[in-house]
Amino acid sequence: MSRLALILFGPPAAGKGTQARMVGAALRVPVISTGDILREAVRNETELGKEARRHMESGGLVPDELVDAIVKERLQRTDCAQGFILDGYPRTVHQAVFLESAFKDGDLKIRVVGISVADDVLIRRIAGRKSCPKCGKVFNFGDAARKDGAVCDECGTALVSRADDSAEVMVQRLKVYHRQTRPLVDYYQGRGWYVEVDGDRPADEVNQSILKAVQGQVGTMSAVAR
Ligand code: AMP
Repeated sequence: MSRLALILFGPPAAGKGTQARMVGAALRVPVISTGDILREAVRNETELGKEARRHMESGGLVPDELVDAIVKERLQRTDCAQGFILDGYPRTVHQAVFLESAFKDGDLKIRVVGISVADDVLIRRIAGRKSCPKCGKVFNFGDAARKDGAVCDECGTALVSRADDSAEVMVQRLKVYHRQTRPLVDYYQGRGWYVEVDGDRPADEVNQSILKAVQGQVGTMSAVAR
């Protein structure tokens, strides 16, 4: 039976990470976040981390070859055997083509849910965003002042702002999104694999829409939900 590769697609700060965690828990499949893997490499100062860092801090994309290799290795692990969710990958048409070619035995059923949020809302969200460096949970405080001194409600760790969440870097990340990543919508629409949900709503509502969209696209969840 083919396994579901569910791609959560959208601009930075659309809520992909939060939704990926919620959908992953609902479907009981792992979430593969290339951003999280790269941030860990940066923290550990590995060769990959050193190379990735300068692209990430300037708001650009890490070269396709590096990210493709990370994803290929990660998806071969046994926990992905029943399906998985991709958060932040693919981000270029090259990566999308790679994903299909790396699994061309027909083993992968790719479906894409786009989370749509207007640019001005994204920029406001970033100003009030912090995340937990331990468990990765993202918090949106809405207004920037309230985030000072906040701790994670899951594990009590002091929350941090991401290095690439400054206003200037965010503007650059949005430009990169529109130029390099957004064309994937046409690519996946052409394949009939794309549906979009309105991401400018409370996380629970967005989550319900995503689960419904996945059901509509896959027909049955039984391939992944155990
Ligand atoms: P994210 O946490 O998904 O917003 O990713 C943070 C940063 O990591 C991005 O701005 C990129 O610099 C880099 N990154 C994450 N995923 C990819 C990808 N699929 N391709 C290239 N760069 C990526």
